[in-house]
Amino acid sequence: MSCTRCDIQREVEQTDVEQLILEQLMVEPMVVSDLIRQQRISFCESCPKRSAHTCTSCGCYYKFRASLPSKSCPIGQW
Ligand code: SF4
Repeated sequence: MSCTRCDIQREVEQTDVEQLILEQLMVEPMVVSDLIRQQRISFCESCPKRSAHTCTSCGCYYKFRASLPSKSCPIGQW
């Protein structure tokens, strides 16, 4: 028998984050161009604040945040 916390952690690990982000972006009214998105993502992917799919400064999935025109990097990288 496992504890609830372990079950939740396993569920999170099994979630396809990329798919989750794509699904969420499909319902967003505006997204940035592919070029802007890639430029932002490249900053995130070399950033020490990134942990796996998440920006530890803001708690967002960085690929999701990088896709939204209304968002910016919380430490001014983009
Ligand atoms: S949003 Fe900014 S702080 Fe967060 S991971 Fe990307 S570059 Fe780093």
